[in-house]
Amino acid sequence: MCTTVSKKKPAPHFIRNMITADVNAGKNQGQVVTRFPPEPNGYLHIGHAKSICLNFQIAGEFDGRCHLRFDDTNPEKEDTEYTDSIQEDVRWLGFDWGEHLHHAADYFDTLYNYACQLIKDSKAYICELTPEQMREYRGTLKAPGKNSPYRERPIEDSLDIFTRMKAGEFEDGTYVLRAKIDMSSPNINMRDPIIYRIRHAEHHRTGNDWCIYPTYDYTHCISDALEGITHSLCTLEFEDHRPLYDWVLNNIDIDCHPQQIEFSRLALNFTVTSKRKLNQLVQEDFVDSWNDPRMPTVSGMRRRGYPATAIRDFCNRIGITKKYNNISLGLLETCVREAIDPEARRVMAVLKPLKVVITNYPEGESEQLDCPYHPDKDIDLGSRSVPFGRELYIEQDDFMENAPSKFFRLSEGREVRLRYAYYITCNEVIKNDAGEVIELRCTYDPETKGGWAKDGRKVKGTLHWVSAADALDVEVRVYDRLFKVPHPDADKEVSFLEHLNPDSLQICDNAKLEPSLASAKIDERYQFERLGYFCLDTDSSTDKPVFNRTVSLRDSWAKIEKELG
Ligand code: ATP
Ligand code: MG
Repeated sequence: MCTTVSKKKPAPHFIRNMITADVNAGKNQGQVVTRFPPEPNGYLHIGHAKSICLNFQIAGEFDGRCHLRFDDTNPEKEDTEYTDSIQEDVRWLGFDWGEHLHHAADYFDTLYNYACQLIKDSKAYICELTPEQMREYRGTLKAPGKNSPYRERPIEDSLDIFTRMKAGEFEDGTYVLRAKIDMSSPNINMRDPIIYRIRHAEHHRTGNDWCIYPTYDYTHCISDALEGITHSLCTLEFEDHRPLYDWVLNNIDIDCHPQQIEFSRLALNFTVTSKRKLNQLVQEDFVDSWNDPRMPTVSGMRRRGYPATAIRDFCNRIGITKKYNNISLGLLETCVREAIDPEARRVMAVLKPLKVVITNYPEGESEQLDCPYHPDKDIDLGSRSVPFGRELYIEQDDFMENAPSKFFRLSEGREVRLRYAYYITCNEVIKNDAGEVIELRCTYDPETKGGWAKDGRKVKGTLHWVSAADALDVEVRVYDRLFKVPHPDADKEVSFLEHLNPDSLQICDNAKLEPSLASAKIDERYQFERLGYFCLDTDSSTDKPVFNRTVSLRDSWAKIEKELG
């Protein structure tokens, strides 16, 4: 079930303005074609979601199309596990690339032919400097580079070596193909960048067909042009690569020349959005998997219960700019709450149970209380029957011995309301040999059915509870932020792993739920009263059902208290 959070048209931003101007001016015959170009070397994260929303939404607004293209030029790091998950995630986010699923690997022949043409036009040459020499010749930001001694290698020689590189005659690293641009350019990317290297590696798509692979910069612009992309939207780190993007397209024989436009990456506090770091968290077992609900991955957020509408709403709210921006995780959580709240049924769950025996409730009897699923009069989610009987569970934290007067929950001699049920008073506390409280003996007032006293007497506390005889046994996983500092990867001297939050997962393996949750379904979210929003976990290996906390509550209990007086 999905609720559209924001029906508003997304706010204008500089990219939308530029594209609108292009369309109005009739550029590209008024067409808009964008693409989302992930490298399949990891799962998608919230940063990618920003790029996906931008590319697909903007194409949609102008009746254009958006391609999904795998920029798969790095055989060692890529895998079909990733291409599969990426497609699933983009679809789940609500976007459709139609027939436009592409792979840079499908262009390897074309890319090779263009490279041969560049050599023939004396715009590329085979270089055999070692990586160390290459670095030395490249120069620095302040000093220009030096021409490679191989720069003027005869065209025929370069062509011959390139052909033999492709045929597999040489070891990795012996030769590279470089574009012949300008070793004194202030932009290091233009100092004769490598466009092909030898890699004897199996590719997840082309197998062992190739042992030379084109570089990202060379591949990306040509792939865009081959697909007729009009606007190539990417993140700011590619700004300095734009001259190279344009150089390649200006120096090969191709009709299309997409416009590259850069915007700032999304950085979210209390988390990391780098596939390399996320991969490290998985590989080194700091989290269970890429879709661990603590991960900022699309699959992690999905498993945690974040609706796709909330993620889209978040991406629209943060907007698109060229400024570095670090966004608060709280904003994402707000979007999640706003999306979930109207659809989440309110139910009762006890995470850390403490038994309560109602001594004046008749033994062997029980009753059904009709409880609405949502407190808001304007939101009709119906109601359910909640059993009430002599033995109940309440939250351990809702009882305190020798409680201070400000403790508005249960204590010996005090009266509280059980939500939707009755007022109860605690008369006796039972402890085990270790002195721990294991049971409370209470009495209830039958004249307070529904949680209201006919004589108008008030109580300060309202507790949630579950009938012991009917409770479902489940495991509840309460997630918190994965990192304990706002900028875990800010300090280059200290590993981001040092900042992991040791309490990011709290497992309640003896939780009790009201029986209506026996029919809980994946993709439905619930509010466990006073505890937060929860959903059923998708892939659990435990015997009991597992519920994940999607997001904590905010002030909602305060509101209920106020309503009840
Ligand atoms: P990472 O640093 O996580 O490895 P990446 O840029 O290498 O990210 P790609 O798979 O190449 O990952 O990214 C696909 C697209 O998503 C690119 O166009 C990239 O600019 C965009 N993208 C990646 N991270 C972010 C982010 N944090 N915010 C916005 N867009 C992003
Ligand atoms: Mg990348």
